[in-house]
Amino acid sequence: MTSWDGMSITVAGLGVSGVSAARALAGLGARVTVVDGGDSEALRERAASLETAEGIAVRLGDADTLPEGTELVVTSPGWKPTAPLFAAAAEAGVDVVGDVEIAWRLRGPDAAPWLAVTGTNGKTTTTRMLASILRAAGLRTAAVGNIGTPIVDVVLGEEEHDVLAVELSSYQLHWTPSLRAHSAAVLNLAPDHLDWHGSMEAYAADKGRIYEGNRVACVYNAADRATEDLVREADVEEGCRAIGFTLGTPGPSQLGVVDGILVDRAFVENRHKNAQELAEVADVNPPAPHNIANALAAAALARAFGVPATAVRDGLRAFTPDAHRIAHVADVDGVAYVDDSKATNPHAAEASLAAYESIVWIAGGLAKGATFDELVTRSAKRLKGVVLIGADRGLIREALARHAPEVPVVDLDRTDTGAMSAAVGEARRLAGAGDTVLLAPACASMDMFVNYNQRGDAFAEAVRGLAAAGA
Ligand code: ADP
Repeated sequence: MTSWDGMSITVAGLGVSGVSAARALAGLGARVTVVDGGDSEALRERAASLETAEGIAVRLGDADTLPEGTELVVTSPGWKPTAPLFAAAAEAGVDVVGDVEIAWRLRGPDAAPWLAVTGTNGKTTTTRMLASILRAAGLRTAAVGNIGTPIVDVVLGEEEHDVLAVELSSYQLHWTPSLRAHSAAVLNLAPDHLDWHGSMEAYAADKGRIYEGNRVACVYNAADRATEDLVREADVEEGCRAIGFTLGTPGPSQLGVVDGILVDRAFVENRHKNAQELAEVADVNPPAPHNIANALAAAALARAFGVPATAVRDGLRAFTPDAHRIAHVADVDGVAYVDDSKATNPHAAEASLAAYESIVWIAGGLAKGATFDELVTRSAKRLKGVVLIGADRGLIREALARHAPEVPVVDLDRTDTGAMSAAVGEARRLAGAGDTVLLAPACASMDMFVNYNQRGDAFAEAVRGLAAAGA
């Protein structure tokens, strides 16, 4: 175990995870300096309360140089590996780790095992579904990591857990070298955050770390070869099994779907049977294809932990999705309005477009280096019309012109916040009874909004305006 007492630690970033890591480490006797490149009023206030309350040093306005005597750097998820501070650390021979690594090292010998989830899309949903299933089995658990309470606080907290459902982003995995999960899942792999990782190979390699040292199961997506390849490349404990999930009929060591029933052929309770029924597709909320895949992945991890089939069903029934993830806002004049503002990359948008038949699609925002040809090609037949907003809407417009020239497109040429209400108005004109107006931007929101929540709220407000005007 690491001895923290007297260790000189530099924490990079005065955000939520940085503050939590700094407090925890200072509490264990480490000498902590938090560095942050910003110097705003809000940061100064946060720094002042941290310094008086905990005796932690904070350095604002310089995040590039390594404080004298640093023995370990703890970074926050948003920091790029190319940050000058890390180059300085490498030069000084100092390790850089993230808050998840700290949480992992802080666990006691009898600590709760971790069931870990990563993937380009579906992480939060799957992790929450998993926690719901574990809870239905009577286990004490929490959904942590990239969601909810900082993981260091949970690991050091009073509350006892039997098992943790841990969501891990590729950033977090990059900085978590010694994690050894009980079991882990990679849901899917598509280009995203390549500006951070540098290349698709580096991104995939960071995701693949989640399988390293797994003890019981490596869960992969049978429809996504790249996830299976990561299992093959991982160094796991003896006896650890590769478990696939599929929307089709499952093979041996897989979970899948047969006649509307989620079935498990990997962990069968009755040895006289070769498949175990878990739940009905209708138990999954919402029962969109990508979300059934999420449910199967959550079920696979729970089953690897020994959870009975009935708890899978009960946990899925008890689960309600987070806001802005395929959330049905209202029906107006026979048209359904759906908010999937969280679809911040083409892979996510493709999944939500696949869930409906005749769609007026509202899209656009910040592309983060993504391309839209595949998305448009695969979704063209479902599109009744498209309304474009946001900074990089031209990329989507061009892809539509190339692959779906027959689909009517309204390019609003706007990046102001009010554009959403105009977009909803345009979508209404294009839609007819039985259609779905779907906000699935395929882009990040920061060109127009604070975050995807605000973008989704603006959409919902505009839709409620329509409903009220029609009433
Ligand atoms: P994450 O935590 O990985 O961002 P979420 O569970 O918050 O994932 O879902 C984000 C968005 O990704 C959803 O709104 C939906 O559009 C899409 N999505 C969810 N699950 C999947 C999946 N398994 N495959 C593809 N897209 C998905």
